[in-house]
Amino acid sequence: MRRIAYFLVAVFTIVSCSKEKKKEVVVPEIKEEIKKPLIKFGYNLDNYFIVKDTVKNGDSFGQILDENGVEYPVINKIAENIKEVFDVRKLRAGKEYTILKSKDSSQTASVFIYHQDKINHKIIHFKDTIKASDFKKQIKIVEKTASGQIESSLSKAIDDQGLSYVVSNELSDIYAWTINFFALKKGDKFKIVYEEKFIDDTIYAGMGEIKAAYFEHGGKPFYAFNYMPDSTKRYTEYYDEEATNLRRAFLKAPLKFSRISSRYNLRRRIAYYGNKIRPHYGTDFAAPIGTPIMSTANGVVVKSERRGGNGNYVKVKHNATYSTQYLHMKSRAVKVGDVVKQGDVIGYVGMTGNTSGPHVCYRFWKHGKQVDPLREKLPAADPLKDSLRKPYFHYIKPFKEKLDSITFEKEVLEFAELK
Ligand SMILES: [Zn+2]
Repeated sequence: MRRIAYFLVAVFTIVSCSKEKKKEVVVPEIKEEIKKPLIKFGYNLDNYFIVKDTVKNGDSFGQILDENGVEYPVINKIAENIKEVFDVRKLRAGKEYTILKSKDSSQTASVFIYHQDKINHKIIHFKDTIKASDFKKQIKIVEKTASGQIESSLSKAIDDQGLSYVVSNELSDIYAWTINFFALKKGDKFKIVYEEKFIDDTIYAGMGEIKAAYFEHGGKPFYAFNYMPDSTKRYTEYYDEEATNLRRAFLKAPLKFSRISSRYNLRRRIAYYGNKIRPHYGTDFAAPIGTPIMSTANGVVVKSERRGGNGNYVKVKHNATYSTQYLHMKSRAVKVGDVVKQGDVIGYVGMTGNTSGPHVCYRFWKHGKQVDPLREKLPAADPLKDSLRKPYFHYIKPFKEKLDSITFEKEVLEFAELK
């Protein structure tokens, strides 16, 4: 890259004894071309011939180096020497690589750079000495804000704003315990403060964390702020504006996106059974066949079998009080005795047993009796330590102000009409 630098030098001559400016001399502009060396991956690329290519199906490290003039005994030595850092058999088709060759007539290859992704690179140096190292590009994080309103679905609202689908997944994770994402309403709104990652200042490298979010569901506001409750453990949690952990011991639903097709109802009458009362002890979540079913809380699998009307089902015991059960699976992904964490996939939606369509019948047991989980006041996860409340409120203040300053077009219009 060539850059032109302008030098403008002004020289003042001051007669010191009289302390008065006598003469001002302006030296004319000097234009000078400065060529900035192109340093990448720690090498001055101006000193090399550069070969850039992509690993093709069937390509091997040996074959690529061979084609670039490295002899097989040398290639074997390289592979052997660097295997601790980089297994050359792991080159994957579709990944890019760069080879640096000397600029003399021999054009000897001396560096192989494997680009694992936009950020991570392996550098294999084999001139004089052989060594391999990891090279991580510097990432610049830019904070951004976005907002949207739900007309038909959250994913459409997110798409309309030009946001990544990752945002809808993240939002559904953040609010998995507080908002029924399977029952969003038209007019629900969201605002987020999030991060975007860039390499070399300009290359987009994906979304970072959602630092703060606001979700208005059915007219009710739900704030969420990302905060590290324990700096030694390096994990973050989302808390609301009152420092309450948004995470609960149980998820609201065993599926990420779905709708409730039938609620827990002890007085349900079914025409098929002559309008007799056939209580429904579960909550049915309809979703396409094959949709992953998650355990709604940490626990141990106590049943995983196929039986009668339940079809393929799994039962998880969470503690002395609670167990949950998931029916009509297409297939089960866990066996009795498996330890599962909240959100772990335990099976897939199907229609085995007594069912007229693909859904999961979610049954919630409390002290051995089936209850309605949507009406239960479920235990919250770890609260924020008292000593962290003050720093937390201090930390979230600018984020809350930022969220509150985002207005929706409609609100602005209404405000304008009022004036
Ligand atoms: Zn059911």
